[in-house]
Amino acid sequence: MYKIESAVKLKEIMGNYFLGMKDTTKKYAWCTSVGPAELLRSFGFEVHFPENHGALLGTTRTAGDMIPETAKFGYSNDICSYLTADIGSYLKKETPLTKHYGLNGPPKPSIIVYNTNQCREVQDWFTYFGKELDCPVVGICPPRHLDEVTKDEIADVAAQFKSMIPICEQASGQKFDIDKFRETLRLSKEATALWKQVLMTARVSPSPISFFDATIHMGPIVVLRGTQIAKDYYTLLLEELRGNVKKGIGFLEEEKCRIYWDGMPIWGKLRSLSELFIQNNAAIVASTYCNSWIFDAFDEKEPFESSAKAYTEIFINRSEHAKEKILAGLIRDFSIDGVIFHDAKTCSNNSNSRFGMPQRLRESLGIPTLIIEGDLCDLRFYSEGQSITKIETFIEQIESAKVFL
Ligand code: SF4
Repeated sequence: MYKIESAVKLKEIMGNYFLGMKDTTKKYAWCTSVGPAELLRSFGFEVHFPENHGALLGTTRTAGDMIPETAKFGYSNDICSYLTADIGSYLKKETPLTKHYGLNGPPKPSIIVYNTNQCREVQDWFTYFGKELDCPVVGICPPRHLDEVTKDEIADVAAQFKSMIPICEQASGQKFDIDKFRETLRLSKEATALWKQVLMTARVSPSPISFFDATIHMGPIVVLRGTQIAKDYYTLLLEELRGNVKKGIGFLEEEKCRIYWDGMPIWGKLRSLSELFIQNNAAIVASTYCNSWIFDAFDEKEPFESSAKAYTEIFINRSEHAKEKILAGLIRDFSIDGVIFHDAKTCSNNSNSRFGMPQRLRESLGIPTLIIEGDLCDLRFYSEGQSITKIETFIEQIESAKVFL
């Protein structure tokens, strides 16, 4: 059976990251997953990502116990299930971090920072914790849904980054050091470039990494970017995957079709979905989600402007037109035969099937598309039987269309 050996190292790294949170002498910052982690690290903060905790609640299928707690406080079941699961976990005083790492919960923050480049939900979520934990909250609010990111927008966001400095200085007790910021950004740039190359190995058939593998191996680029640890990990993983490409080894011996996954993962169903596609010899080789942590613009020579650009030009913050162009490019680059859109009930921000995108891609590229309804964490919105039937029928359609080509 195909196995990515670097997973052993990954487990150790992620374990150390969480176990490190037991150290109460350190100062912690909470940050959104595509927020200014590098700037925070340059002040010596360890960084906790509440979305990562949300994904953990989803993967361990404990989110379903937490979400109703948040609903009791007036939060709709239809809003971000990372938010409702994470706040519910806090209210219930239960977390999978206890079972896995002996932690009572996420570390107490000295500062909470969000970036609404992904959605407004993070603002409500983080503000809740700011009040609850009596902690300063800083928000970056870039212009949204952009066709292109212009100099004016970069200047606006760079100024917002700079205005965080006095609050970070006060919360950390450290003066801002531009050289530390440059160094952290350099490490982040190198790790993100390696992560990009890791994902690019899947352009080859048979691919050495699936979307499902990538959702696990992306751990360090989300929570440890800006550290040598993340850079070293992706150097190791890339070497292994390139070795497998050379040997002609992939997670499928023969790929009957190659599929693109758009939207959020269904965290509680990763394993069963991965098995379903493997049984059908269908390879999911690229995704919008895993590409979200590629930040080509980082440049330590212009740390504020390049951070502003990198975090503002992310896919989720772009116009429909720009998203369509990006998706079309990936579909071509990865030799994709069909696209699955996951329409996540509680995340309209990362569900790209709602404004005609599947139809437009079908018309412009002649590519089959499928929409499946589900959710990132709230499995009440996912019908397994119905989805399996839809997916298997879709794979058959792609395969028969290929036969007649
Ligand atoms: S992008 Fe979606 S999943 Fe992520 S925090 Fe925002 S609403 Fe939640």
